[in-house]
Amino acid sequence: MQLPFLPYGRHSIDEADVAAVVAALRRDYLTTLAAVAAFERALAVRLGAPHAAAVCNGTAALHAACHVAGLGPGDEALVPAITFLATANCVRYVGAEPVFVDVDPISGLMTSDSVKRALGPRTKAILPVHLRGRPVDMAPLVALAEQRGLLLIEDAAHALGASYGGAPVGSGRYAAMATFSFHPVKHATTGEGGAVTTADPALHERLLRFRNHGMVRAPAALERPSPGPWYYEQQELGHNLRITDLQCALGSSQLGRLSIFLERRRTLAARYDRLLADLHGVTPTDGPRAAAGHAYHLYAVRIDFGGLRRPRAAVMTGLRELGIGTQVHYIPVPHQPYYRARGWRAEQLPGAWDYYEHTLSLPLYPSMADTDVDRVVEALAQVLR
Ligand SMILES: *Cc1c(COP(=O)(O)O)cnc(C)c1O
Repeated sequence: MQLPFLPYGRHSIDEADVAAVVAALRRDYLTTLAAVAAFERALAVRLGAPHAAAVCNGTAALHAACHVAGLGPGDEALVPAITFLATANCVRYVGAEPVFVDVDPISGLMTSDSVKRALGPRTKAILPVHLRGRPVDMAPLVALAEQRGLLLIEDAAHALGASYGGAPVGSGRYAAMATFSFHPVKHATTGEGGAVTTADPALHERLLRFRNHGMVRAPAALERPSPGPWYYEQQELGHNLRITDLQCALGSSQLGRLSIFLERRRTLAARYDRLLADLHGVTPTDGPRAAAGHAYHLYAVRIDFGGLRRPRAAVMTGLRELGIGTQVHYIPVPHQPYYRARGWRAEQLPGAWDYYEHTLSLPLYPSMADTDVDRVVEALAQVLR
C-alpha cells in the first residue's frame, strides 16, 4: 500500500472555514472592509497588540512597514542572511539597502553581536526574523535600537503565536512593528494575506493610507477644506495592498483555532525531539531547551551530511521516494545573483553558510498524526544508513 505523501507544511481547512467563506460570499458587499476590520480586531486581541492592519500578503506587510518606518534612499536596514527573500526585497522596494547580518550557525538566528558589527552611520532599522517560529533574543536589540535611535521591525511570518519575555510576538511591546503572513504554509491562512501590528497609532494610520493609494477621507486629516461628501485626497504615493472580505472571513475562522494548531505543532515537535535523540549525525535545530515561546512554523534538523557521506540532494530524493517532503530554509539571501551583483558574498558570512549547508526542514503541520512523525524518523534513519 502506498502511504500518503507528507509535504513539509500544509494548511488545515475545516467545514467551519468553508462555511465562513461561503457566508462572506453571500453578503451584499465583498469589499466593505467589515470582515477586514473584524479580522484585524481578532488578530490584535490574540496578540495583545493595540493595532493591526491587514494587507494582501506578508511581503506587502513588510513593504508597508518599511515605507511607514521612513526608510528610503541612503538608508540601511539590517537583515539576517538566513531568511526568505521578502525580508531583504522590501528594503529595496523603498530604495534603501539591506545589510546582511550573519546568524548563529546552529540556530540560524540573528545575534546581537553580529548586529553590532554591521551597524553603521546609515543604519536606520533592524529586521529580526523569528526563524521557524523561534523568537530572536530581542532584549539586546531593543537596547541597541534605543541607544542608536533605530526602528525595530520584526518579520514574524513564522512566529504567529510565538512569545518572548512573557509577551506574544507582535504585541508591540518590543518592536515598533511586526509583520505576519497568512500564506497556506504558515500557522493560519487567508489563502494569501498579511498584516502589520503596532502599538503606535500614527504608524497604524499611515499603514492604512499606504495600503489604499495614499488616500485620506477623514475631514480632520484633509489639507484643503472639504467641498462635499465625495471628497478625498491623495497626500502621498501608496499602493493597492488591500485584502478582501472573503480572505478575512477565512482568517477570522482560522484564528479561532490558532491555539489548537499551535498545541498540535508543539506536541509533534516534542515527539520529533524524542525520536531523533538517538539518530547518529542528526540534531534537532531547536530541541526541548528552545521550546519556550517557540511557535514551530518549521521543524528543522542539522545533519552532518559530510560526515555521514550522504549529500543533501540524495537524502532529499531518497525521502521523496519514501513519500516524505523536505525543504531547505533558506539559501542565504546574499547568495542570490541579484544580491551578489550588488556586492554581497554569502561565503563571507560563515554562520549563515554553515547553517545553510546543514539544515533540512521535515514535515510539520497540525493534521499530521503521531505515527507520521514516526514514519519520517524511520525514513530518515533508513536514507542515512
Ligand atoms: C512567508 C514569508 C514572508 C512573505 O510572506 P508572503 O505572504 O508569502 O508574501 C516573509 N518573510 C518570511 C520569513 C516568510 O517566511
